[in-house]
Amino acid sequence: MKKRRISIFGATGSVGQSTLDLIGRNPESYEIVALTANRDAEALASAARAHGARLAVIADESRYTALKDALSGSGIEAAAGEQALVEAARLEADWTMAAIVGCAGLRPTLAALQQGRTVALANKESLVSAGVLMMDAAKASGAILLPVDSEHNAIFQCLSGGRIEEVRRITLTASGGPFRTFTREEMRSVTPAQAVRHPNWSMGAKISIDSATMMNKGLELIEAHHLFPVGLDRLSILVHPQSVIHSLVEFRDHSTLAQLGSPDMRIPIAHALAWPERIGTPCAPLDLVSIGRLDFEAPDEERFPAIRLARDAAEADGACPAILNAANEVAVEAFLQEKIGFLEIATIVAETLGRYSPARPKGVEDIFMIDHEARRMAAMILEKVLN
Ligand code: NDP
Repeated sequence: MKKRRISIFGATGSVGQSTLDLIGRNPESYEIVALTANRDAEALASAARAHGARLAVIADESRYTALKDALSGSGIEAAAGEQALVEAARLEADWTMAAIVGCAGLRPTLAALQQGRTVALANKESLVSAGVLMMDAAKASGAILLPVDSEHNAIFQCLSGGRIEEVRRITLTASGGPFRTFTREEMRSVTPAQAVRHPNWSMGAKISIDSATMMNKGLELIEAHHLFPVGLDRLSILVHPQSVIHSLVEFRDHSTLAQLGSPDMRIPIAHALAWPERIGTPCAPLDLVSIGRLDFEAPDEERFPAIRLARDAAEADGACPAILNAANEVAVEAFLQEKIGFLEIATIVAETLGRYSPARPKGVEDIFMIDHEARRMAAMILEKVLN
């Protein structure tokens, strides 16, 4: 069988490393075209050497020399900067992993979609900010979007059991994060170290904070709205603390299909990597006897207002999802730097949405303008919170 040519955007991150782990276990099936990172030149060079990549791209140009030095003698080409990321996304590849965190992933992901590539999408923020543009680009070029987020990957798998027109309801499950049982008062003083400690999943810092505020589920709701266009009123959220059922699809006849598995991102990544076939993974098999019970709760939008903010932004549509995402990125960063408290994350997002109402974006440049302006506004609101 011909080797599948792979490019990984965000190769040094949690999803990127899990993808490389799977590829490393199946070297006869895959070869690496390009790997990218933001600033971690050493980890990028080490991954590029270990997997024999053709090209390594570092987004931050000030880290180019470090990358070149770390690659010296390897014969691996080095490049730097945003445009180099886009050019890497245009290189011939059979499968591209979009695993940059944040809206920074939008340009390369869009470039890969415009080339008609098969894109495994982990980078939910780009779909939240520019969902219509990305889906249109995929449609126009014939690109295939494979969802990697465990919930969306689960829905994708369940949809092999029926047609999207036959769907009555899609339910995204949520662990509830580390503060599922906390009161608002208890959440007021939580630290970044507590917030990144997810009970079930091991993930990057930003998505871990999003899970703790449950903004992650809100972003996923918008993501699902674009990937599976059944209408927002057919998308629901169910808290399921064990993270064993990754999502459910109920069909017209009230038959409900669910996808289950251990909470290990290598399972959905492996599904996307081998699709439409399957490969083995080193993940723990699901042992329902030892798990013993599965619990479910309704999400509490009073304690976790981010869910409502995201649903409202999705309903309002236009620029709102991009504003929600940009303000959230700013607020999460400020919380990680211990500049603001945990509860202020949702407050900053709500205030930014309340103050900024630009016209509906028509193209990618409008999205970047809205993203930029929403970040500026969120930073101003943040200053007010600090003073
Ligand atoms: P990490 O923070 O672990 O990794 C992020 C990656 O993106 C790193 O390679 C980082 O490079 C790179 N990066 C960061 N900023 C930029 C930038 N401005 N330009 C270019 N590259 C950049 O994130 P995760 O792997 O946890 O998440 C990646 C995406 O996948 C997110 O959108 C997340 O929501 C989504 N996701 C993650 C899951 C998980 O289990 N982790 C599950 C489902 C979805 P460097 O190392 O140099 O900083």
